[in-house]
Amino acid sequence: MNRIEDHTLISLNPATGEEVGRLPITPVDQIPAIVERARKAQVGWAQMSLQDRADAIRPFGPALAAAAEEVGTLLTREMGKPLPQGIGEARGCGESIDRTLDGMIAALTPEPMEDANISSTMVFDPLGVCAGITPWNFPMSMPHWTVMPALMAGNSVILKPSEKTPLVAQAYADLLMSFLPEDVLQVMHGDGEQGKALVDADVNLIAFTGSRATGAHILESAGSSLKRVILELGGKDPLIVLDDADIEAAAQFAAANSFRNAGQVCVSTERIYVQSQVADAFRDRLVELAKEVKVGDGCDEGIEVGPMIDGGQKAHVEKQLAGAVSDGAQVAFKSEDLGGNYHPLTVLDGCQEEMEIIREETFGPIACLMQVEDDAEAVVRANNTPYGLGASIFGSSERAHQIARQMTAGMVGINKGCGGASGTPWVGARQSGYGFHSGRDGHRQFAQLRVISEMQPEAP
Ligand code: NAD
Repeated sequence: MNRIEDHTLISLNPATGEEVGRLPITPVDQIPAIVERARKAQVGWAQMSLQDRADAIRPFGPALAAAAEEVGTLLTREMGKPLPQGIGEARGCGESIDRTLDGMIAALTPEPMEDANISSTMVFDPLGVCAGITPWNFPMSMPHWTVMPALMAGNSVILKPSEKTPLVAQAYADLLMSFLPEDVLQVMHGDGEQGKALVDADVNLIAFTGSRATGAHILESAGSSLKRVILELGGKDPLIVLDDADIEAAAQFAAANSFRNAGQVCVSTERIYVQSQVADAFRDRLVELAKEVKVGDGCDEGIEVGPMIDGGQKAHVEKQLAGAVSDGAQVAFKSEDLGGNYHPLTVLDGCQEEMEIIREETFGPIACLMQVEDDAEAVVRANNTPYGLGASIFGSSERAHQIARQMTAGMVGINKGCGGASGTPWVGARQSGYGFHSGRDGHRQFAQLRVISEMQPEAP
């Protein structure tokens, strides 16, 4: 667990407990001055054309890709995920910059619309100062997907990254800031106290990614002043395995998506509903696959899953698991206990709907199995949650499509994970999202839409 000492955030490697670095915490009473600087800087930034803003940001992409090895290593040391994934996260943000910026230019370019009488133009103006508040599980891509659309829409940004991964966010922002006018992007550090003070400050948009509970607090605080909010929240994603599924493919997906990032992914597979005819075969294959996963320090060669972010997150997972086992779930597999912040990869069979591990987000490396008798039961139980981020269905395409249209999640994958094609938004339904990002409609949420109209010259 990162330590706070004497107004300093001390960032610890979750694999070793060693200090990775330290940063000063932003005193809450300095936030109004930070917002004022952001507001002044935003004026000039907003006056630049969309194309000029993109041109300013564009060289950041190759610079980040060139620094990917260094910042990706920092990412792994601070957050724990395996090195290829840490470096890949940094490289991915950098190498996709042209596609990212071009998509944002297309989304934010004025759009004409007319009828027989009126000619209108929809324009996408800046909102002003954007507070970007981000989590630790993708400590570079979450800031990236918050800061980029906000900047491209002509806002200035104050980024408050997670107190669990401040160094990697600072490294990302330092590089990006070197391509931007002063104060167009600023970073502040701290925990919920700083986050709350930023939400309460004179900002115009709050773009938040994090837990459902924090999202609810932010919505409540922002409501009194009707600030714009975009909330990307937690999930409890189901996987449905039909009796005509390719069991090997379904088990491969379940192993990858339950254990990746030690289960600390918003779209991790957290509930698996398997039709009873194939339940034993699916479980047995999943256990075999789980046995092959290499757990350890993400900096070591060949490691596929690292530690949990800290002891608090591990204790949360342990508590849910112990509760499920005492209520009758059976441990079908548990990997070696490496101690420290590591949680064994676990396959849990015979879970039940009322267990906390099935109701609340786990965010840990546990694959929870339940049997269902038919498609209708699978749909009802998969939808039995206030969350609605992603879902996956494995089975014959036509049947899976019918089920997909009945799912209450925002993103549904058929024989794959939930992510959509390039250009589609990342969207949570129900209590997993309040607003969304990416894709044309996602980018537009970072802007104020205005409609300018005049009569057609030949209008009657
Ligand atoms: P969190 O809600 O605890 O913290 C997120 C951020 O909010 C941190 O920067 C934190 O300091 C700040 N914060 C805490 N309390 C605050 C308050 N009262 N006001 C303002 N800011 C506050 O979440 P976390 O543990 O950092 O991240 C894990 C969660 O994020 C999981 O629920 C996960 O599913 C979710 N997540 C969602 C997505 C998505 O795309 N939907 C992506 C990644 C993570």
